[in-house]
Amino acid sequence: MFCPHCRTEFVGWRGKCPDCKILLVDAVPPEPGSVEKTLSYNDLVDLVKKSNGQMSIELIPAEVERQKKWRIPYLGYGYAWVKRFRGVSDGVAVELITTETGRQKKWTFPYFGFGFAWEKTLQGSIAGNDLTLIAKKVSRRRKWEFPWAGYGFAWTEELAGECGADLTVCLTITDVNRKKSLEFPYLGYGFAWARRGDLELKVIE
Ligand SMILES: [Zn+2]
Repeated sequence: MFCPHCRTEFVGWRGKCPDCKILLVDAVPPEPGSVEKTLSYNDLVDLVKKSNGQMSIELIPAEVERQKKWRIPYLGYGYAWVKRFRGVSDGVAVELITTETGRQKKWTFPYFGFGFAWEKTLQGSIAGNDLTLIAKKVSRRRKWEFPWAGYGFAWTEELAGECGADLTVCLTITDVNRKKSLEFPYLGYGFAWARRGDLELKVIE
């Protein structure tokens, strides 16, 4: 596991970086500004055209947010979402920030609390060009454990948007992280967030 801030690798650790208090991620994010180029919009469109009209970039979380809430008597609500995605392919860098999250909480008799959070709107840039993505498909799961621990998981599976007038963009989440945490006496917290995604750019015909 890696800290997205200080970039230290923590082997066998989980949770937060002890120094930065930021949630550890699976893969070390690319060094900021190391290999990246800025392209004019026309150059970016040309680049996609040259690769048969579509281009794919793998994204990983650079920052993950996690929250716990609880209510009397024994309702625990866990929320997690990716705050920032990053990826680089052939020097073309993508950075996306979650500007809006979706949230929901549910409970069922007697003491099962389920918290859900997912990425709703992402905004950022690709090689210096603005990009906005909106959630199109969201998944939700509930689990429970004896006696009254409820775990809610939600994550975005697909987001779509545009980059300028000539490119459509689609982000498909290909892998999801899930974690459960239990606190005395019956507070269950479920967390789910994207672990990996595939960003695809296509030229509009
Ligand atoms: Zn750190």
